[in-house]
Amino acid sequence: MFTPTVQNEQMPRHVLAILNQPSAAAPPHEPGAAPFAFADPATPQLSVLDLGATRGDGIFESISVGDGRAQALEHHLRRFAASAARLDLPSPDLDLWREAILASIAELAPGAESWVKTVLTRGVEGDGRPTGWVYAAHTADYSAVRTSGLRVVTLDRGYRHDVERTSPWLLAGAKTLSYAVNRAVLREAHNRDADDVIFVSSDGFVLEGPTSSVVFRIGGRLLTPGTGLGILEGTTQANVFRYAESLGIETGFDLVTPDRLQTADAVWLVSSVRLAAPVRAIDGRPYAIDAEFTAGLNAHLLALRD
Ligand code: PLP
Repeated sequence: MFTPTVQNEQMPRHVLAILNQPSAAAPPHEPGAAPFAFADPATPQLSVLDLGATRGDGIFESISVGDGRAQALEHHLRRFAASAARLDLPSPDLDLWREAILASIAELAPGAESWVKTVLTRGVEGDGRPTGWVYAAHTADYSAVRTSGLRVVTLDRGYRHDVERTSPWLLAGAKTLSYAVNRAVLREAHNRDADDVIFVSSDGFVLEGPTSSVVFRIGGRLLTPGTGLGILEGTTQANVFRYAESLGIETGFDLVTPDRLQTADAVWLVSSVRLAAPVRAIDGRPYAIDAEFTAGLNAHLLALRD
């Protein structure tokens, strides 16, 4: 077994914990073994037959870690369980996942912005035991994008805004491992000389980014498209709204078209880890960056304790 070092100066910059029994509804991988064990993240750990790798059949969460504390942890765990239910995966044992997340963070070298990724897959085909792991690491430096902002293009997602209700088997709104499309649209954005994407439904409504929620300000109100639209219910967006409300700013849900989004005086893509990235252009049309509000917002998000 890989035992992480305990002395501060030798503490690792990334940590992996593998869960022995990710769900109480399925048998453990090793009966009688510890609930989770640290492993060396630099060495191979996953079977080539794992359905997470061969089919993208699994779910994940990415969680910000500020000052050694996981942010919005309970919201992420709830969403993890909700995604599992949508995919008919064995329900994750959230107490065990929480313990493995906190233990992994404690093993990380302190002092840097960090993140945790939790992954639950359907496991090896035919085996009946899901695979689960927690990976914790220091993050890239996002300070530049948090101030200078993003150039964004709108791209058609190809689904209607009511896809979640009409076609639940498409898993829209679940945080599945199948992110090849979410990566492809970023390449498309780069081909169009942009940095990121806002998805638009096939019937013409603003949805979300490939790894973020869209937040915009119209008439002094902070808005986001809402829930039940085949988009992720963002943990960061929820905290952005809490922050705005603490300043007396009204918040709400609004299903808008790209034309209506043009009337916004500020737009952000918000997500765990990168936090609030202001948008400085959409489809070539410039948007002003509210530097003061964005800085206050990111300082608040970085300091969050849950
Ligand atoms: N929408 C999508 C598709 C995402 O992948 C993410 C985050 O990864 C989000 C929204 C934002 O969610 P959160 O703020 O909980 O990170």
